[in-house]
Amino acid sequence: MADKVYNDYFGEFGGRYVAEVLRTPLDELEAAFKDAMADPGFHAEVDAIADTFVGRPTPMLYARNSSDELGGARIFVKLEGLANTGAHKINNAVGQALLAKRMGKTRIIAETGAGQHGVATAAVCAKLGIECVVYMGEVDIARQRPNVFFMELFGATVAPVSSGQRTLKDAVNEALRDWAASFADTHYVIGSALGPSPYPDMVREFQSVVGRETQEQIEQYVAAEGLSVEALVACVGGGSNAIGFFAPFLDQASPRLIGVEAGGRGTEPGQHAARMKGLGRTGIVQGYKSLFLLSDDGQVQDTHSLSAGLDYPGIGPQLAALGVSGRVEFARATDADALDALRFFARNEGVVFALESAHGAAEAIRIARELPRDRAIVVNMSGRGDKDLFITARELGGPRWKSFLQSEVDRFDADANGGGE
Ligand SMILES: *Cc1c(COP(=O)(O)O)cnc(C)c1O
Repeated sequence: MADKVYNDYFGEFGGRYVAEVLRTPLDELEAAFKDAMADPGFHAEVDAIADTFVGRPTPMLYARNSSDELGGARIFVKLEGLANTGAHKINNAVGQALLAKRMGKTRIIAETGAGQHGVATAAVCAKLGIECVVYMGEVDIARQRPNVFFMELFGATVAPVSSGQRTLKDAVNEALRDWAASFADTHYVIGSALGPSPYPDMVREFQSVVGRETQEQIEQYVAAEGLSVEALVACVGGGSNAIGFFAPFLDQASPRLIGVEAGGRGTEPGQHAARMKGLGRTGIVQGYKSLFLLSDDGQVQDTHSLSAGLDYPGIGPQLAALGVSGRVEFARATDADALDALRFFARNEGVVFALESAHGAAEAIRIARELPRDRAIVVNMSGRGDKDLFITARELGGPRWKSFLQSEVDRFDADANGGGE
């Protein structure tokens, strides 16, 4: 790996558009990252934690019942959601936390929106014994209470952000502000393949374990069935699970690589989070150039997705460039498509997709129907659906779910009042 080239730019996208004060930590980080990537000892350290803590390799499932029902291409599912803390986010958190340790940092900060990246980072910091502060918008704290609970259980401090819209973008700003003043002893773990260079390269490298395992498992399970892989499908928020899944295949002409964005409730501004296929505009936001959902006067627009992890207004620069070059195709799945796909695979296969990953599952269902039976599609289940219980059960659980929640509240009040003290 010593001769590997990392990029500041991917086509016209990427770069490092930051205030002067952040040049020093980013230069230092880039040097440490390159040094670590060339050191087999560092890779061995990452692999050891991957084996014993993350639960790698994650399995690949042949979704035989689903494929039979659809009658077209055979669908395989990379069960990345079986990793510790329930999603691919842990791969990046482990890599960056080990890098921080190598750099002698004693404190880690992170931003989180829905909380998945915060939970992964907090878990790794607990494992490695590093102090952890997670910035989270007050609005997100209120609507993602279960993840706040887990972060605190892992010993992290969840720092509420009260500026701006009090969501993910504001949490990133707050984390950058912290880092500018604290980088002497602190590393900032960004949660997706975006931000100023070297983050997009670094996050891709730490997530590419998903793609490397997939490559081996295709030989083991897909080729063994006499099938050829037509497409890999992954959902795209910031783009980290997709770029890691696609990474080993980028330099070859096949299979097709398909990124699926959040189609939300439709293509009206504010109702979705799809940046590709003409909806996003080139801009520079939070330190990097890419495609963003921007209003006519250049302000970042509101987004909507039922899945908390896909409602980000920007896309990682490498995926934006791969979309422009055509190597990665983009599709959209709506909230309703994702819920349908989640139900379909739960009933047929006994696995529950995270709502984010269910967007990829929806596209896999759509294209499987159009393809012959000797082809295969591999979809990345970037996360498992346990974390979405409060959303999916509200959508699919009906009045019995509501009365359950009510009874829990009643029980809580009764305990509080009648505790006997
Ligand atoms: C955070 C998250 C995503 C979206 O982030 P990417 O960087 O685009 O991968 C997708 N799936 C799950 C389960 C997530 O937690």
